[in-house]
Amino acid sequence: MLGRFEKRGDLGIIWIDNPPVNAISVGVRAAIIDGVARLVADPAIKVGVLACEGRTFMAGADITEFGKPPLSPSLHDAIAAIESSEKPIVGAIHGTAFGGGLEVALACHYRVAVAGAKIGLPEVKLGLLPGAGGTQRLPRLTGVETALGMIVSGDPISAAQAAKAGVIDKVIDGNLLDGAIDYAQGLITQRAPLRKIRDINIDVEKLPPGFFDDARKRIAKERRSLFAPQRIVDALEAAATLSFEKGLTRERELFLQCLHNSQSKALQHVFFAERRAATVPNLDKNVAKRDIKSVAIIGAGTMGGGIAMNFLNVGIPVTLLEMKQEALDRGIGVIRKNYDNTASKGKLTMQQVEQRVAMLRPTLSYHDLAEADLIIEAVFETMAIKKDVFGKLDKVAKRGAILASNTSYLSIDEIADSTSRPSDVLGMHFFSPANVMRLLEIVRGARTAQDVLLTVVDLAKRINKVGVVCGNRDGFIGNRMLGGYAYQASLMVLEGAMPEQVDAALRNFGMPMGVLQMSDLAGLDVGYKSRRDRDPATFDGRVTRSADLLVEMGRLGQKSQAGYYDYAPGDRTPRPSPVVSEIIEKVSREYGIARRRFTDEEIVERCFLALMNVGCEVLREGTASRASDIDVVYLYGYGFPAYRGGPMFWAENEVGLKTALEKLRKYSADTGGQWLTVSPLLEQLVAQGKGFASLGQ
Ligand code: NAD
Repeated sequence: MLGRFEKRGDLGIIWIDNPPVNAISVGVRAAIIDGVARLVADPAIKVGVLACEGRTFMAGADITEFGKPPLSPSLHDAIAAIESSEKPIVGAIHGTAFGGGLEVALACHYRVAVAGAKIGLPEVKLGLLPGAGGTQRLPRLTGVETALGMIVSGDPISAAQAAKAGVIDKVIDGNLLDGAIDYAQGLITQRAPLRKIRDINIDVEKLPPGFFDDARKRIAKERRSLFAPQRIVDALEAAATLSFEKGLTRERELFLQCLHNSQSKALQHVFFAERRAATVPNLDKNVAKRDIKSVAIIGAGTMGGGIAMNFLNVGIPVTLLEMKQEALDRGIGVIRKNYDNTASKGKLTMQQVEQRVAMLRPTLSYHDLAEADLIIEAVFETMAIKKDVFGKLDKVAKRGAILASNTSYLSIDEIADSTSRPSDVLGMHFFSPANVMRLLEIVRGARTAQDVLLTVVDLAKRINKVGVVCGNRDGFIGNRMLGGYAYQASLMVLEGAMPEQVDAALRNFGMPMGVLQMSDLAGLDVGYKSRRDRDPATFDGRVTRSADLLVEMGRLGQKSQAGYYDYAPGDRTPRPSPVVSEIIEKVSREYGIARRRFTDEEIVERCFLALMNVGCEVLREGTASRASDIDVVYLYGYGFPAYRGGPMFWAENEVGLKTALEKLRKYSADTGGQWLTVSPLLEQLVAQGKGFASLGQ
């Protein structure tokens, strides 16, 4: 049993003790049931308090019990025991009462919390809904509208907000246990009733007419393609229209529908994949990390400014270096404008904006970088320039400073060679916009020191990024794989699909934007320029021909309001362009290709199976340590829909590796084989009947 019962005069305390977060494992459930039984059985005891040892109230279910046969007593048993107690029980909340933890608290007759406590029902984030009465009890306290908002978002609220919403009866200043005991004693003196949330009636007449149908429509738009949010509306409708018992039965049915839906499996995979990504195999975790108190950034362009904001946001001062005053002024101006925008939306106060901007120190002189603990280079993507910058850094940076490059494709080892301290060098590859996108690829060079790597892995968490450690190969994980994906999209355009059809199919699959739309955003000139520097034998000139012609016409993408699409001034909506259609058809004729029709299914399969195929190569070479790291890269760096779990998870679970292999072989043969070579790793896994997890977790 993970807890104990303590008698203090006429009061009984049910203590829960399951470090670190009092997850509601079977032992906790047993302790609750035992505690309630003792409380009820002792005639001298009049009132109970349910409290937790350690740093938090019950923070949620025990994830190690996920997917295993249920253990008795269940959470329902524990909740029923509390609620049916004949003596009032006060839940005493500190830390986080999330998910099952809040559902336990809602079974108590009263709840108190310290000011720093947070409560929430985050199940939706795992593709589920609260399955232990949360959808039935919460709306009885807060009203249906507030409960719906909380359960559909899954976001926590503070104790003060919870008190306002009626979930918390009293916010305690000072010691929680003393406050809870006082509150419980007060209930006895006031002869307060045994208040059971289940007995509260929801007045459905008070809801606006058509409330639930409107909510379904609104949520379908806001939470595109997600299964659980719609079931949450159903569960709340049940709470409002059925008896409590019938509502619980309905909640259970809906919970099981969510549990058996592929989205919850995918979202649980994402949950674990993200945590796993933070652990680096074969590293000595006990190595002392370096202290990062100040950062310098070289280049105040698109990336440098966004990168700077990440550090300013968490109170780390940043020195920002440019070559010319006007570039520096422009960069600072963009940062300022971004902060002002955030403030105008009410997400920051002007005082916070001023504090952040005040920690930014612009400079044109390398000497000002001498004291920085970490220096991140974000200058043009040209090896000669990067080498020149790192050579200068080597001269001015203090001993022990970490030197990082934000390069998208270039070799970290070659960059490190331009310094006398290659073990201090690594890649920190942020994604655009760098102040928004959560992914950080942490590129480990051949000589990067362990403590440098571990320091940056830790730092990623500090600046709220999801860090994925990867090997030093062209394009690392994400951009390397993009090649396979974007190639198929452009090839289908050459073979008969128009950009708008390809992109719509990808968006319908769940991507935030199509890959051709993404090229317009990044600028078609970027690829154009890089192809000028590359050996023409290394890419398929047929599929890049249209893009080249577009660039030569001045259609550079969004920045020139014309690329694969036309754009109206100040509007990022892509509009199909007759000029582009003509060029595409002309290029197909040039290569003697008879254009044909494509189904959306083929578009999705070819793009994402090709993406996964390069993912297998990335794994085979060791650029990524595990398939789930690749999923994390695509989820947080490219907007792959989380409810599909990432490209590797999708291929394994939605398509099946055997089918994926058969289809890839066919597509490879149909397209001449040269640019789509099936990964030997995929062949091997299928031959052995194994999945990605067999390669290590
Ligand atoms: P950018 O052209 O917007 O900015 C580069 C800035 O660096 C310019 O302001 C320029 O004045 C400055 N600069 C150039 N040489 C310099 C030098 N020697 N010293 C000081 N400043 C110098 O480019 P960007 O898009 O911010 O890209 C920067 C780096 O980040 C590149 O390596 C790029 O590949 C990488 N990257 C870009 C993206 C993206 O989507 N834009 C995403 C990830 C990584």
